[in-house]
Formats: sequence, C-alpha cells, structure tokens
Amino acid sequence: MRIVVVGAGIGGLTAALALQRAGRRPIVLEAAEALGEIGAGVSVTPNAVKGLLSLGLGPALEALDAAIPQQEIRAADGSPLMRIDRSDSGARYGADYLMMLRADLHGILSDAVRANDPDCIRLGQRVTDRPNADLVIAADGVRSALRGEAFGADAPRFTGHVAWRALVPAERLGAPVAKGSVVWTGPERTLVRYPVRGGAFVNLVGLSRTGVWTAEGWSHPARLDDLLAAFPGFAAEALDLWRAAPADRIMGWGLFVRDPLPSFTAPGLALIGDAAHPMLPFMGQGAAMAIEDGVVLGRCLAGETDVAAALARYDRARRDRATFVQRESAAGADRLQTTHEKSGTDLKRGEDALDIFAYDPATVALD
Ligand SMILES: Cc1cc2nc3c(=O)[nH]c(=O)nc-3n(C[C@H](O)[C@H](O)[C@H](O)COP(=O)(O)OP(=O)(O)OC[C@H]3O[C@@H](n4cnc5c(N)ncnc54)[C@H](O)[C@@H]3O)c2cc1C
Repeated sequence: MRIVVVGAGIGGLTAALALQRAGRRPIVLEAAEALGEIGAGVSVTPNAVKGLLSLGLGPALEALDAAIPQQEIRAADGSPLMRIDRSDSGARYGADYLMMLRADLHGILSDAVRANDPDCIRLGQRVTDRPNADLVIAADGVRSALRGEAFGADAPRFTGHVAWRALVPAERLGAPVAKGSVVWTGPERTLVRYPVRGGAFVNLVGLSRTGVWTAEGWSHPARLDDLLAAFPGFAAEALDLWRAAPADRIMGWGLFVRDPLPSFTAPGLALIGDAAHPMLPFMGQGAAMAIEDGVVLGRCLAGETDVAAALARYDRARRDRATFVQRESAAGADRLQTTHEKSGTDLKRGEDALDIFAYDPATVALD
C-alpha cells in the first residue's frame, strides 16, 4: 500500500510513526526546506501523552523532564481564581501533563520516524495536487489545500482572536520561574506563561480579541509596546516577563478556524490535525488532537488491506471526538475571558469536567 503523508507537522509525523509501527512504509512530503519548528511552547495533555507512549516515545519524553505539578488561573490583576493540581495526573488519567518546546516534541517525532526509515521525510516538497498513492493523509494544517480539493473551498475564517508569543531565555529574568503554568485572564484578554526545557526558557502566550486582521500570512514580528497597550491593568508580574523577551522575538498572528466537517475522509484521503479540525487554543488541544488522529489512523491501518474500510473506521472513531473538542475550545474562550467575570463558576467547566484527558487513542474502541 503506497501511503503519502502531506505535511511534517506534529500530526503528520505522529501518523507516519504510527504507520511505521503498523508495518507500513509511508513517505512524508513537507513544503519547508528544513525541519525546525518555530520557537514556542506546547502543552501535551495526558490523552496525547498516552498516544505518544504507545509509539515507544516514553524514554525520549522522560528525558525532557516536562511533567508539570500544577496550573493556576488568576484574574488580570493577579488575584487567584483557581488552582489545578496536575501532580496526580498519572494516577488519574494514566499519563502526566507535559509542557515543552514545540521544537523538542517535533524533534522526538522526526528522530523516531527517521530511525525507522531515513528516507521517509522529503523536504522542500510543496504539494499542490493530490499525490498519486493508495492513501493520502492530509496533515497540511489549517490552510490545507487537500481539504479544499475534497470538500470545497471554505476559506479559513478569522475568529476575532489574535495571539502573541515569545520565548524568554532564563538568563534574561531576575529569578527562576516556577514549574507549571499561570494564566492571567480578564475580559477579552489572556496571558499565559510556563517554563520549558528544565527552566531554560519561559514560554509566553498572549490572546486578545480584535475586530479585524488584515495582515497576510501567519506570523509577524510584533512590538512590545503594542502588547503592553493591549493588556492594560494586567499584573506587573505577567507584563515584566514580556518586557524581558528579546525585542525582535515577539511574534503576533491572527487565529483562524474552519467549520466542522461532515467527514474527515474522502476516497483515498484522510484529513488529520488542523487540516481536519482547526481549533482555538483555549484548551491546549490542537496538537493533542493531531496526535490522537495519527495514533488512531495507524491502528485503523494495522493489518488492513482495504483502504476504504480503514478510512471509514478512522472517521467513525475520530469525528465526534475532535469536533466536540473543537467546539469546546471555542466556548472555552468565552468561559475564560468573559463569563467567569459574571458567574464566577464557568472556569470549572474545563478539560477535567469535560473528561477530555481520559481518552486513550491507543486503546479506544474501533468498530
Ligand atoms: C497560540 C497557540 C497556542 C497553542 N498551544 C497549543 C498547546 O499548548 N497544545 C496543543 O495541543 N495545541 C496547541 N495549539 C494548536 C497546535 O499548534 C496545532 O493544532 C497543531 O500544531 C496542528 O498540527 P498539524 O500537524 O495538524 O498542523 P501544522 O503544525 O500546521 O503542520 C502542517 C505542516 O504541513 C506543511 N504544509 C502545509 N502545506 C503544505 C503543502 N501544500 N505541501 C507540503 N507541506 C505542507 C507545513 O509546512 C507544516 O509543516 C496552539 C495553537 C496556537 C495558535
């Protein structure tokens, strides 16, 4: 069976590794000339970690020492709203809750794929037409060209949210930053910080709402002054972290999504990750869903010679789950940034209450 994966992001590489472990020999076509994720952090929640462990990545993940003990949510001025213990994540959900550099996760995946097959990942290959193969896996992100080809040209839609990010080297900070994440949130605005790579860097994310996004392309250098102006009244502790960021390394971008699809597959084609279900980052589940997709797709193809049967099984297993998380991620924006101001309780309807982490892509029933 000739299988081509389009896109070597977290979803495409997870799928490639899962397929290799299922005895397949996929090739991955990646538009970029070099592998190397943009500098930012990513949270990898227990549901996704279970998938990565099933692919034999336990020792590599262990070496990152990335498990977090807790998460805190504070009001914009710094007063505490909620604290979530994550130290019991292994007992409660079967895996730790991790926070790491995207580059480290990407590196672990690409090393494992290449160890199985050094020629698997082909760089500098921008796919414009559907490749000739028994199965094409579209892992080409929110702007997926293959999705448009199969399901019509619904252009990605600007959500009204913009994001900033920066990575601060620890030596630029006066004191070490404690492990785990802190979220400061107020009406229409959220700041997040968490240390990564054993505290060598602090990952910063800012999210705010705006009416328009006119810039072309994805990521743009952003100005510290604009960020500070967009977060009036936020705690000095949060803003001082941004002031410590290298001025030329603060990036900003608009957040785009697409509507839920009626199917994640078409004849000979499976969509995974953001190509299938791009979502807002308010539950930290976009990469997690891409990992779940890849692991489940690998299982659907293990020992299966009928591509159509494998695709049908994949769609049945994944569509409700990913669409649910996609919708809840959008609702999470309001819970975090608006409604808790009024009700004081909405924050409790988070990932734990929704039982998102109990899912295990390596064992979930496939029918
Ligand atoms: C501010 C922010 C914070 C986030 N934080 C988290 C988090 O903490 N946890 C989490 O789980 N998720 C998070 N996410 C979501 C997560 O980043 C994405 O959902 C995830 O990266 C999607 O992975 P993917 O592999 O589907 O797509 P992508 O990462 O977009 O990869 C697509 C790949 O396809 C390649 N490609 C595109 N077009 C072509 C083509 N025509 N031919 C060949 N190659 C092509 C691209 O170069 C790229 O390498 C966050 C998102 C944002 C915006």
